Amino acid sequence: MAEQAFIALGANLGDRKGNIDRAIDLLRQVDGIEVVRVSRLIETAAVGGPDGSPAYLNGAAELRTRLGAAELLENLLSIEATLGRVRHARWEPRLIDLDLLLYGNQVIEQPGLTVPHPLMHTRRFVLEPLVEIAPDVIHPILGKSMRQLLANLS
Ligand code: ADP
Ligand code: MG
Repeated sequence: MAEQAFIALGANLGDRKGNIDRAIDLLRQVDGIEVVRVSRLIETAAVGGPDGSPAYLNGAAELRTRLGAAELLENLLSIEATLGRVRHARWEPRLIDLDLLLYGNQVIEQPGLTVPHPLMHTRRFVLEPLVEIAPDVIHPILGKSMRQLLANLS
C-alpha cells in the first residue's frame, strides 16, 4: 500500500536548478519511490545563514512510495550526500537540501525524524511551492490546509 508524501527541495550553491533536477532524477531511480509532481521553483533570499549567503531556489514535490518514512528519509539524505560528493571536493552546505514534509497523515516523532517537518508551517518558501501542488492537503497536527497555512503567514 503506497503512501503519499511531500518533500521540500532547496539549493543555494552551485548550479541550483541543476542540483534540484539531479535530485529529482535520483529519486525517480529509487525502487519504491514514484515522483508524481514537482512544483515550480521559486527564488528566496537566505534567512538565518551567514551574511551574504546566496539566495535559495526552493520547490516541493509529491511522491508516492512503498518505503516507510524512515527509509524514505534515508534515501533523501543519501541523495544529498551523492550530490555533495560529486560536485565538490569539500562538503559545503545547501548544495541540496531535501526535507520530508508530510508522510500521509502520519505524525512521527523519533530520533532523527520528525514528521510533519516541524518548521514547515512557518516557512513561506516551503508553503508557497506546496500550495501549488497540494493546496487542500491537511496538516495532520494543525488541522489546516496548506492554503490556509500560507494565508496565515501573511
Ligand atoms: P535543515 O533543518 O536546514 O533541513 P539539515 O538538512 O542539515 O537541516 O538537517 C538534517 C537532519 O534533520 C537530518 O539528519 C535528519 O535526521 C533530521 N530530520 C528530522 N526530521 C526531518 C525531516 N522531516 N526531514 C528532513 N530531515 C529531518
Ligand atoms: Mg534538511
